[in-house]
This record gives sequence, C-alpha cells and structure tokens, in this order.
Amino acid sequence: MDASQDTDTDGSFAYCSWHEDFSRSARLVRLEDQGSGSGRGGLFACASCRHAYDLVPLADQPL
Ligand SMILES: [Zn+2]
Repeated sequence: MDASQDTDTDGSFAYCSWHEDFSRSARLVRLEDQGSGSGRGGLFACASCRHAYDLVPLADQPL
C-alpha cells in the first residue's frame, strides 16, 4: 500500500467542492456562513484544486 500518491500529506479525506469529488488531500479553505441551519461546515479543496485556483487552507491563512 502506497499512501504517498498525493504530495500534500497534510490533507484529509473530504469532498472537494471544486472538482466535485472526494480527495485524500482535501483541506478546509472556506467557511460556509449560513445564518439558518446548523453547522454546514465549510468548503474543502484538494491539493490540485488549491494549486489551480490559488486557494489557501484556512489553517495557513494569516489572521
Ligand atoms: Zn479538487
């Protein structure tokens, strides 16, 4: 088993909202601020989509 297919090892298995599929390199890049409903969470993007769309994971963004 080789789990090093993705170069970005910091991701988690989540749904990438950009290419609309699951990816092991997905990271949270945007929070969904919905007034109604509870905890919709946020949008995840995989490593290649973050690179293609210049997305920065929330954890890596300066405050
Ligand atoms: Zn993606």
